[in-house]
Formats: sequence, C-alpha cells, structure tokens
Amino acid sequence: MDQKIALIAGAGPAGLTAAYELLARTDIKPLVCESTDAIGGIAQTFNYKGNRIDIGGHRFFSKSDRVMNWWFNILPKQGAPAADTADKNHEIEYATEAVIKYLCPECADGVTEGELRIAEKSDIRNPHSVIRNRPAPDPEKEDAVMLQRPRLSRIFYRKHFFPYPITITLNVARRLGLWNTFLIGLSYIRAQMFPLKDETYLDAFFTNRFGHRLYKTFFEKYTEKVWGIPCNQIRADWGAQRIKGLSLKRAVVHAVKDLLSSDFSKAQQERETSLITRFFYPKFGPGQMWETVTEQVKKCGAEVRMKTRVAGVHLTDGKVTSATVENIETGKREEIACDYFFSTMPIKHLVGMMTPRPPATVVEVAEGLQYRDFLTVGLLLSKLHVQERGKVVAERVPDNWIYIQEGDVRVGRVQIFNNWSPYMVKDWKNTVWIGLEYFVNEGGDLWIKPDQDMIDLGVHEMEKIGFLQKADVLDACVLRMPKAYPAYWGSFEQLHVVRDYVNTIPNLYLVGRNGMHRYNNQDHSMLTAMMAVDNICEGRTDKMNLWDVNLEMAYHEEKKS
Ligand SMILES: Cc1cc2nc3c(=O)[nH]c(=O)nc-3n(C[C@H](O)[C@H](O)[C@H](O)COP(=O)(O)OP(=O)(O)OC[C@H]3O[C@@H](n4cnc5c(N)ncnc54)[C@H](O)[C@@H]3O)c2cc1C
Repeated sequence: MDQKIALIAGAGPAGLTAAYELLARTDIKPLVCESTDAIGGIAQTFNYKGNRIDIGGHRFFSKSDRVMNWWFNILPKQGAPAADTADKNHEIEYATEAVIKYLCPECADGVTEGELRIAEKSDIRNPHSVIRNRPAPDPEKEDAVMLQRPRLSRIFYRKHFFPYPITITLNVARRLGLWNTFLIGLSYIRAQMFPLKDETYLDAFFTNRFGHRLYKTFFEKYTEKVWGIPCNQIRADWGAQRIKGLSLKRAVVHAVKDLLSSDFSKAQQERETSLITRFFYPKFGPGQMWETVTEQVKKCGAEVRMKTRVAGVHLTDGKVTSATVENIETGKREEIACDYFFSTMPIKHLVGMMTPRPPATVVEVAEGLQYRDFLTVGLLLSKLHVQERGKVVAERVPDNWIYIQEGDVRVGRVQIFNNWSPYMVKDWKNTVWIGLEYFVNEGGDLWIKPDQDMIDLGVHEMEKIGFLQKADVLDACVLRMPKAYPAYWGSFEQLHVVRDYVNTIPNLYLVGRNGMHRYNNQDHSMLTAMMAVDNICEGRTDKMNLWDVNLEMAYHEEKKS
C-alpha cells in the first residue's frame, strides 16, 4: 500500500512539530514546504557574521509539561555553567542526567550503538525509536544544549529604568515622583471601586487592572507603538493573552512572594506567564531548536523543501487532495497529491489559494484579517552608553530586553543578545550585540526605508534617549519579518466564519500562530500541531479542540496550580 502523505506548509515551530509528531506516532510521511530559505519561521535565528539575532526574543517557557519535555528531548538542559555564568554571577539549577528519546538511531548522530537502547513502551510508536541516558551536556563543550537564563526586562522612560511588569516599590515611587505616585494610587483605587463596565477595548482593560494614570504612563504609548492604532480601537483579547492574569495587585503580591519563597521551581510553575523570572534558551537561539528538529525529521523519512511556496490547495469532494507548490527561485510549479494538509501560513493566503473557491463570506473574512509586521536593526557596539538619571554611565546592562516608553522615538524595544546567551555573540566579552525593534506595517515608511537609512535612524534614536554613542557602532544589519503579529481587529471578530468552514474539511488542519490567526507563543503553536496529530491517531474529525488551545480555561494541557 502506498504511504500516505501529509503536506505541511511552513517550517516554523508548528509545521516542524507536526512533522515530528507524525513520524513519532503514525506511518504518514511528512512533506514540509517552506517558502523562505530559513528554518524556524518567526522563531528562527538570523546569523550575521557570527552574531545571531533572535526575532523578538524567544523565551522557552510553557505551563505544558508536554511541550517542555519535548523541547528538552531535542536540546537537553545544561549540566554545567555557560561561558558567562561566573562573570555574571548567575544562579542556575543544573541538570545531572538527560534521557533522550530519538525518533530513529540516525538522529543520535555520533552516538555509539552501545549507548542506545530500544524504546519499549512509549508515546513514540515509531518502531525505530531509541533511547539514550547520558550526563547533562556542558555548554562549553557541546552545542546541543538548553541554557537556563535569568529574565530581566525593564522599561526605559525619561532616562530612568522601571520594572517590567510594573510594580510599585519605593524606588519606582521616587522615580515617578511621590505626588505622582500618590495620584497613581488614587486612580488605581478608583478603578477598583468603579471599574469600567465595558472592557471590550484595551484602554478599559488596562485601566481596570492598573488604574487610568498608570495606564497612561506605562501602557498607552508602548501598546500604540506595537499596534500602530489607538488603544481604544484594539480589542482587549490581545491584552488578556499578553498579560494573562496580571494586575497591579498581583504584581505586588508576586514581588513579595518571590522574596519569601524557598522553593523556586514551585513558585515559578505557579506564576502567571508574564512574571516568570527564569526561562530556558537554546545555546544558539530559538532557530537552533528548529534546525535540530529539521535534521532529525529528515533523517527519519520526512522531506523538507526550502524556498518552496505552497501556491494552491485543491479540494475534491470536500477533502484536500493535492497542493500546488512553487520553487521561488525558478518559478517552477508542481502539483503534489496529499492525504492530509497542515497549514501554518496566514489564513488570508490559505483561503485565497483554495480551489474550488470557499463561500464568499469566508473569503471576505479571510481577506479582512490584519497583521502587524516587525523590523529589527542589529547593532554591534564596542559598548553601551546608558545615561540613567543620577547614575554613572553604564557600558553594559543586565536586561534581556528593554521597553522604550518614550513617545518621541519609534523604536519600541531593545534586545541585548549577550544576555540571552553569550554564544549569540561572536565576541561576547568585548562587544555588545543589540537589536532595535520596530513594529511596522509591510510597505509602510519604515518597511521600505533603505537599510542604511534605517540603521542611521536607529542609531540616532538610541543616541537621543541616552543609550549609546554613534562612535561605538562597529557594524549593523536590518531584518524584516512580515506578519509577525496577527491583529485582533479588522475582520478578527468574524474569524469563526472561517473556522467553521475549514472545520468541515476533514483532512485540513490549521495550526500555529498565523495558521490560526491567534497570538500564540511557540508552546501553543506546537500544541495545536501535536493535537492535530492526536486527532489523526484517534480518528477524531471534529477539530474544535485545536481552537480551544490558548483559551486558558478550556486548555486541557494547562497545569492546575
Ligand atoms: C516579537 C515576538 C516575540 C515572541 N516571543 C516569544 C517568546 O518569548 N516565546 C515563545 O514561545 N514564542 C514567542 N513568539 C511567538 C513565536 O514566534 C510563534 O509562536 C511561532 O513562531 C509560531 O510558529 P508557527 O510555525 O505557527 O509560525 P511561523 O513561525 O510564522 O512559521 C510559519 C512558516 O511558514 C512559512 N510560510 C508562510 N506561508 C507559506 C507558504 N505559502 N508556503 C510555504 N511556507 C509558508 C513562513 O515562511 C514561516 O517560516 C514571539 C513572536 C514575536 C513576533
């Protein structure tokens, strides 16, 4: 009997997870088509002359053990200090042993046969699966390793640093001014006593949780930079997913709990996602995870075609029967028959390329979906020059990333890649590698700016807010990522029309972030792919469980705290 084929559009976290899970648990052959020349989608790592950029900064943290264990099975937790651990005095919980389950012996490249044993009973159905017990890897000696990193991100505002998420401490009150802090307190109390009834939009959502004055100070300008439209036009769903369960009261409670906690792991598991103070990170950034997964699935029988765009999805009798793929270099097109189709591409594109054409209402909703795009200016510096008010100039800062609150510059956030992993920077001791993040619109003024002009703008803005000096810039590059954020406006409210239509097609699976038009992090993007394969294994045709992922309450992988 011919082997069944699952065509997967996109080699990002969701597409590659689907490929891995299909190999692990079914006899279906995955064929992944990726339109670009990069593995990892938004979670790729861009390598510029040995200095690596992570688009947006990808913390590896999930409340789902299924996802956490999956990641550690690919890149095991570190068992020894990283290059900068002693230097920065980092506290790390080292692993001692790693138990790795490989899809097939070929994945365990360089491992002697004696070290491997056959996986007897496991979630992996693949008869070639093997297991290896080994000491946890030393990041100074091996590359396939997951680092544990401290999280620090702060807000830079009027030449002061403020904690992120905002907590009201004595220091913060001093920086804001005591009178201002008093008014913030009053405005918070007022919001608690007389909350706004209609929380449809973000301004009300933030005001009810933080008070109007704190919202104006710390949330309004930054959020508007991210989305490019006023907060009173952005639906609160984004805020609800972005800062799940967070409020000023909880932020204060967590700060106190943290100080008193004797069991860090437990405290961390129970914490709201926005407040996590340590996270995991691959030695060479998020792309390393997905490049490693790609290598493994290829060795175990998947095909991964790069620079190959899915250009058409064809249905016969209500099922996907083939897809047209196009080589983006040669323009050559080919129609490939498939038994299953996984889409991680933007819904707008998928619906637009389906034949026969879906009902007009479905097409209209898909076409109305909106996105926000992302641009990073990478700057290699000999040092920073951070002028915090009342302090000596700092040449280094401990943050992973910093929110730029000032309204008179367009840069939204600054990543300091040295602090994510020293291995992201070619010479981490003598240079500082940063990423200036701009939230933009594809085709807008910043998007179309020539790279050099964009670099000049970035350097100028950072000098203006007192962060660096032009003379310290050694090298620079620009990176553009279209459709980084699925927007919660446009036709978003009618997304159910598309969902209900695609759910009638039994072998079509919409998974991931843009694939479902949802603000999913890697873990939720992966879970949708895992659960799609669960459904195939269980013969389940109703796909509503995929759409329930990341709706916190209905999310069955969620830990009970
Ligand atoms: C600024 C920012 C910060 C983030 N921070 C975190 C974080 O800290 N932690 C975390 O876990 N997650 C984070 N995320 C989210 C994470 O990036 C996504 O959840 C994840 O990348 C989504 O995976 P995906 O496979 O669904 O989609 P994508 O990563 O978008 O991958 C989709 C792939 O499909 C390809 N494609 C599109 N159309 C086609 C086509 N027609 N044919 C073939 N290929 C196609 C694309 O080129 C892309 O490679 C962040 C995202 C952003 C934007």
